[in-house]
Amino acid sequence: MEDRIDSPVLFSVRMHASAEEGHLCGAERLVGADRLAAAASAMLDRAMDRGGARLAHLNIRVTAVDPTRLRRTGLLPVRTVHVPTVDDAWQAAMQLVTGLGVAGTAVRRAAEAIRGGAAREGGNMRGAMIVEAATGARLEPDPDRGVRVTQMDLDERIREAVQGYLVACGAWHPRVLEALILASKTAAVDGVLAELCVSDDPDYTTGYVGSRNLGYVRILNLKAPGDPRGGRAIFVNGARCAGRVIEALERTPYLVSRMDHV
Ligand code: AMP
Repeated sequence: MEDRIDSPVLFSVRMHASAEEGHLCGAERLVGADRLAAAASAMLDRAMDRGGARLAHLNIRVTAVDPTRLRRTGLLPVRTVHVPTVDDAWQAAMQLVTGLGVAGTAVRRAAEAIRGGAAREGGNMRGAMIVEAATGARLEPDPDRGVRVTQMDLDERIREAVQGYLVACGAWHPRVLEALILASKTAAVDGVLAELCVSDDPDYTTGYVGSRNLGYVRILNLKAPGDPRGGRAIFVNGARCAGRVIEALERTPYLVSRMDHV
């Protein structure tokens, strides 16, 4: 599913914006030198859009990517599960994730954490929970912050094709594209069995289950409109591989550069 390659010169561009009361938004790109200024400027606009008057701190960090560490992977195929109620949506999510080899108790624990606020004081985490698939034990070193999946982007050469694909699937939205890139990287990391995501945007109620085996499965109505809680769980195949998985999620650069299924 993933290959190491000889690569172009790329820069990781990362943005983090916060208000006095905490995290507002972040963004992540891998771009060539010619797109650096545009990427940083778009991030600034996003932080202003999301943060408005609440914006207190904004960081944009640019780091050169070591070309020998860059990996390429394929875009996960997208499908959508239409279910009428939040309970049906969770049942569908549960079935998908257990079908990928995750124990029912592990999925239930992760679901309870996401629905109740996965950080210690019941708020949203900035990153993902890392959950042992067999037991449901949480393995992320900092349970408030979680693990941020970073260092990934879409290869410019397939951007238009991917947008066309999402339009054809009835799923086009910049937010879906971003999540799909993150999910494609996550699924490509050895040791990851599945990812479960619910947005923390109160107006966005569609979540997804991502995996190498099933692709990116959008699930409608995974929360009620107006609910600000959300979160991500990444299920790993045993506690022993957690360190390696976290290292890859946080630090190995991935470009999504193929659409194998189209
Ligand atoms: P979002 O889909 O951006 O609304 O994010 C939903 C949840 O996923 C957030 O509440 C965080 O817990 C988590 N999250 C957001 N961005 C990342 C990331 N880059 N890596 C891991 N988890 C994330």
